[in-house]
Amino acid sequence: MAFNFNVSRAAVNKAVNSLREEGHLIESVTKKGYRLLSESDVLSVEGILPYLRDDYRGNIYVFDTVESTNKTAKEIAMEGNEDGSVIVANGQTKGRGRQNRSFYSPKDTGVYMSYILRPQDDANIYNVVTVAACIAVCRAIYKLTGIECGIKWVNDIFLNGKKICGILTEGSFDLENGRINLVIIGIGINVSTKDFPEDLEAVAGSISNSNDVFVSRNRLVAEVLNELQSLITPESLKEKKFIQEYREMSIVVGRDVEILVGENRKKAHVIDIDDNGGLVVRCEDGKVESLNYGEISLRWNS
Ligand code: ATP
Repeated sequence: MAFNFNVSRAAVNKAVNSLREEGHLIESVTKKGYRLLSESDVLSVEGILPYLRDDYRGNIYVFDTVESTNKTAKEIAMEGNEDGSVIVANGQTKGRGRQNRSFYSPKDTGVYMSYILRPQDDANIYNVVTVAACIAVCRAIYKLTGIECGIKWVNDIFLNGKKICGILTEGSFDLENGRINLVIIGIGINVSTKDFPEDLEAVAGSISNSNDVFVSRNRLVAEVLNELQSLITPESLKEKKFIQEYREMSIVVGRDVEILVGENRKKAHVIDIDDNGGLVVRCEDGKVESLNYGEISLRWNS
């Protein structure tokens, strides 16, 4: 390396030590050199880029810790267009779910990312972006590990009965023309998190804690972005071909659930996912309804 870069051996040693301080795992063998270990998993732009499709159109911003990637994404989107850009963080101090619930986001063991979209088209086609994002995450995990995840309508990814990923999509309208001018898709994935706070122990899991697999977080980010870029195009959102895949991965179809709208709860049986990603349920009074996900949460009816 010293020869190739025309620097002293001491300079190489110093650079390697500073990489080690950043958390990179580097092996050294006397008279042979250094090797970056495959388990080395520090999130970085350089680590993500090699796995990203050549025609990827956005910017990649990687941070060690942010309050919430959705918040940083909004700030960055205020500065410019940033369509297709992504904010990735190693940890979040105030990760959020829907209705301001918190999303536990410890450092080093998860991937927290927010993808920025600048819609140019009819606002209505964007009502399925959360559905498309679920598919992107499941496809990426399958590609890296061969593991098939399940989807709990509408925005949670499950593995072995536990939630391993939450998605929070937020948007803003331009009041002058009534169009959506910004959509931010926040995705939090528990990659290797083992120790969850007590209140989450029974509900939260990670990709590798029940399946002994190593998942490179850099590669996972890249694969999710590759999938998002092909799923979230105006054509794909209009055609909605991915709804069938979503339906097949659903872990709620055929089950009894409890539906929460604000403080109100009602029991229902899930029949299907409709072509708009809505949940088709039969209520206790026999009435069949299609629910849109706005303010609705699901609980298992056990
Ligand atoms: P619901 O379960 O009511 O449908 P939701 O899908 O809207 O909720 P989110 O708002 O996306 O869920 O996420 C917040 C909820 O996820 C929290 O209330 C908590 O139960 C759970 N949670 C928080 N942190 C994590 C985590 N790291 N992994 C898995 N689940 C988590």
